[in-house]
Amino acid sequence: PTVFISGANGFIAQHIIKQLLDSKTYKVVGSVRSAAEAEKLESDFGNHPDLSLVIVEDLSKPNAFDSVFKEHGASFDYILHTASPVNFAAKDLEKDVIVPAINGTKSIFQATVKYAPNVKKFVQTSSVAAMVNVNSSNTTKEVITESSWNPITFEQGLENQLNAYLYSKTAGEKGLWELHKSSNAKFPLVVINPTYVFGPQAFDSSAKGSLNASNEVISAIVQSKLNDDNVTNVKGGFIDVRDVARAQVEAISNSNFNGRRMILDNRNFSSQEVADIINANIPQLKGKIAKDVTLKEVGPGFSANIDSHVSKELLGFEFIDFPKTVIDTVDQILRV
Ligand code: NDP
Repeated sequence: PTVFISGANGFIAQHIIKQLLDSKTYKVVGSVRSAAEAEKLESDFGNHPDLSLVIVEDLSKPNAFDSVFKEHGASFDYILHTASPVNFAAKDLEKDVIVPAINGTKSIFQATVKYAPNVKKFVQTSSVAAMVNVNSSNTTKEVITESSWNPITFEQGLENQLNAYLYSKTAGEKGLWELHKSSNAKFPLVVINPTYVFGPQAFDSSAKGSLNASNEVISAIVQSKLNDDNVTNVKGGFIDVRDVARAQVEAISNSNFNGRRMILDNRNFSSQEVADIINANIPQLKGKIAKDVTLKEVGPGFSANIDSHVSKELLGFEFIDFPKTVIDTVDQILRV
C-alpha cells in the first residue's frame, strides 16, 4: 500500500516516514515545499527506493494539492496530513498561521475525494490545541477528553501568536470533520491530537541550528546558564515523537481508531523537570544550566487535566517516559 504524507520534512513526519519504511509494508509519497528540501530528505533517507517526494509549495493556495493528486492520486491508499504552521514568531497571524492550516486541510481533503478513489483512510494531525479551553484560567481544573473542543473565536485567534496556533488547529480540524460529513466520503477519518511533542530529530542533520518549535522548550534549558532567571517554566502534557509516529502508523491499519479523535499524552512535565533530568543525567551540563526555573504564567488552557484513558486503551502500548525523551533529545543536541 502507498501512503501520502504532507509536510514530509517536518519533525513528526520524518519519524512517521521512518517507521513506515522500516515496517517494509508501505511505499511513501511525501510532499515538501521545494526541490532543495526534497533533495535533503531523500539523501537523509539514503535514497530509499520506497520513498518519493513531490512538491506542494504553499498550503494557503486554493487547491494546493490538486496537481499532485491529479497525477498520483490513483496510487494512494492512505493520506496522512501533518503539514501545518507551527510558528510562534509569525508576524501576520492570519496569513502565516491561520490561513495555511485551514486551507491546507481543505485542499488536501478535497483533492483526496476528487482524485484519489482508492483511499481507505484519512489521518489528520491535529493537536490538543483544538481541545483545551482558551478561556479557562490556569487555576481552573478543567478536564479535557476526546470530545472537548476549544471555544476559541477567530477574533481571539488574532490576539497573539499562541492564540493564532490554537485557532488554526481548532478551525482546521473542525473544517475537516464538517467536510468529511458533507462530502459523504467513503473513507473514515482518524484525528490525532498530541500534547507537546518532544524527542530527537529523526536525523542529526535536522538538529543543527534551531529545532522545531516544541523541542525549543528543551533546547532553552540546554542553552540556559546557572542562576538564569529568565527561563520560562513551560508546563503541560507531553508525548515522545516516536510514540506519535507509532500511533499514526497504527492508525492506518487499526479499524478501532476509525472516526475517532485520539489524544496522545503520556503525562505532565515542566521545564523544571527538564532541568532536573539534565542535571541528574548529563555530566557535561551538570551544574551549568538553570537550576531553579522561575515559574511564569503558562499559556491559556494548558494547565487543564487531560483524561486520555480512552485513547490510551485503544493504543495499547507503553509510552516512552520523560527522562528518556529528554536525554535522547539533549544527547543529539550536544552531538551535533
Ligand atoms: P514542523 O514545523 O517540524 O513541521 C511542519 C511541517 O508543515 C513542515 O513540513 C512545514 O514545511 C510544513 N508547513 C508549514 N507551513 C506550511 C505552508 N504554509 N505550506 C506548506 N507547508 C507548510 O512541526 P511538527 O512536526 O512539530 O508538527 C507537525 C504537525 O503536528 C502539525 O500539524 C502540528 O500542528 C502538529 N502538532 C505538533 C505538536 C508539537 O509539539 N510539535 C503538538 C501537537 C500537534 P517547511 O519545513 O517547509 O516549513
